Amino acid sequence: MTSSDARDVAAGTEPVDSGLRTQHSGLVIGVLALQGDFAEHAAVLRKLGVTPVEVRLPRDLEGLDGLIIPGGESTTITRLLRIYDLLEPLRERVRGGLPTWGTCAGAIVLAREAIGLDQANIGTMDIAVRRNAFGRQVDSFETDLAVAPLGEAPYHAVFIRAPTIEGVGPGVQVLARLEDGTAVAAREGTMVATSFHPELTDDTRFHEYFVELARSEKAR
Ligand code: GLN
Repeated sequence: MTSSDARDVAAGTEPVDSGLRTQHSGLVIGVLALQGDFAEHAAVLRKLGVTPVEVRLPRDLEGLDGLIIPGGESTTITRLLRIYDLLEPLRERVRGGLPTWGTCAGAIVLAREAIGLDQANIGTMDIAVRRNAFGRQVDSFETDLAVAPLGEAPYHAVFIRAPTIEGVGPGVQVLARLEDGTAVAAREGTMVATSFHPELTDDTRFHEYFVELARSEKAR
C-alpha cells in the first residue's frame, strides 16, 4: 500500500470499484421496460456505473444517451409499443442517431424486415431477421463466439428461441457468426442487434461495447 492509498483509506475515499464507474458516470441509458428481461439489462448497466432508466412512456425517452430493447416476446413488445404510443417517437429517435441495441426479441423489433412478425415494429435497422429460426429441436443453446470488437477471448452466448440475421444491407457490419456462417450480431451506425442475450451471463463486455458507443456519440 502506498502512502497515498493509506491516506485514501484513512479518509474513507478509496476507490471502491473499477475505473468504469467514474468513466461512465453521467451517462443515461434507457431500457425499454414493457415486457421481457429489462431488469437483467438494468443490473448489468448498474454494474458498469451507468444509470439505467426504465422506458415505458414517450416522455421517458427524454435525455437518454442510449437505449436497450431487451429480449422477451417481439409480438408482445410491438403490441405494447403501439398501445403506449411509443412506436413513432422511437423511430424518430433511433433514426436521429440515438444509440440503440436490440437483444433477441429486441433485434426483431429493430429490424427493417422481421420475418414471422405480423405487426409493425421500429424497423429502422437494415437487417432481415427470422423469428424462432432454430426451430423446436434446438430452440435454446449456448455457444462460444468470436466477436471481433470484444477482443480475443471467446464470448459465451446464450440463445433462447432466437432469431437469426438472414440478410444485411450495405451499411451493416456483421459482428459475429455461428460456425455455419449464420450472422447473430450486427451493427449499423448507432444501431446494434444481437440474436443472443448478453444480459444473462457474467461477461459484461458486450454492454461495455454498447456503453462506449453511447459515450462516444454523446461526446461528438
Ligand atoms: N422468440 C422470441 C420472439 O420471437 C424471442 C425470444 C427471446 O427474446 N429470447 O420474439
